[in-house]
Amino acid sequence: MKNTKKKKKVFDNKALTSILSDSSLKEHSNIRIGDKASYLFTPQSVSDLALIINDTKKAGLDFLPVGGGSNILFGYVGDRVVILDRDLPKICEVNNNRVVVSSNHDINSFLSEMIKYELGGLEFLAGIPAHLGGTVNMNAGAFGKNISDYLDWVEIINPEGKEEIIRKEALKFDYRHSSIDGFITKIAFNLEEKTRETISSEIQSILAERRKRHPYDFPSLGSTFKNPPGYFAGKLVEECGLKGSRIGDAEISEKHGNFILNKGNATFEDVMGLIDLVRKEVYERKGIQLELEIKVIN
Ligand SMILES: Cc1cc2nc3c(=O)[nH]c(=O)nc-3n(C[C@H](O)[C@H](O)[C@H](O)COP(=O)(O)OP(=O)(O)OC[C@H]3O[C@@H](n4cnc5c(N)ncnc54)[C@H](O)[C@@H]3O)c2cc1C
Repeated sequence: MKNTKKKKKVFDNKALTSILSDSSLKEHSNIRIGDKASYLFTPQSVSDLALIINDTKKAGLDFLPVGGGSNILFGYVGDRVVILDRDLPKICEVNNNRVVVSSNHDINSFLSEMIKYELGGLEFLAGIPAHLGGTVNMNAGAFGKNISDYLDWVEIINPEGKEEIIRKEALKFDYRHSSIDGFITKIAFNLEEKTRETISSEIQSILAERRKRHPYDFPSLGSTFKNPPGYFAGKLVEECGLKGSRIGDAEISEKHGNFILNKGNATFEDVMGLIDLVRKEVYERKGIQLELEIKVIN
């Protein structure tokens, strides 16, 4: 009851129509960990999204965009305003090799859609349970390619609640990082013309490669740590004998040392316990400080 009053004070009635009150964050993170959030929104229009972000700023709170939830570990989120992209309008406009698409398309259905237009390039992301907005924000990459290689511009709702188009040249992209500050709503890509057969066979070989290297049988967030220059984080974990280490229901995969799996009812603390263990052991034995690739929200 107290909570509802507080929400009414922060957000106007229009914004409150898209609040999800009964959903737990667990349902919105690929590793299936998370409690209820104080503010969890799923806006159905870009204008409602702008309203929510504007009210968030007025209240002096922070917001967190969530796409596929494949890289977010939720702890105590406090008053952070969590905003899901899933119910925003979906658009996809194709003009020659230029594609303008809403950020809430999931990678795998977007790749399938592009096969119809004989447009490729992003096949290296096949199999990732992510949305386009999250992959651009994280500058997702694999097999030597990054999504920013194909980017032209993004449209965002900035932290002031205003729509803004930002060209790639005005942004900075590094390893699993971008300088984008706001909620990405639309993305323009320049893709490559390829035949349907070539794209489909590239997707199949990427999927086969991923199945060979990565564990897909339990929920995870993909690579937990960034690869330090000149090393592979998973290999360092393996060399420290940490594969298979378990705290509660969280376990370091036997198949890939950089993946932490939820083998049942793992908690935020279980996963953080493993992260601390890995960082300590790798530092003590190898003198290397591992940096997190996943986003820990706590
Ligand atoms: C099995 C598996 C394999 C994976 N393989 C790879 C891989 O090969 N390469 C790789 O790079 N990653 C990989 N990942 C990690 C993950 O998929 C990527 O980081 C991806 O970019 C996250 O996208 P998402 O939509 O799930 O983002 P989320 O997890 O929802 O969010 C990630 C970050 O992006 C922000 N964000 C999300 N949506 C938006 C938006 N619309 N606007 C602005 N910011 C936003 C969030 O606030 C958060 O900071 C893998 C994960 C799994 C589970």
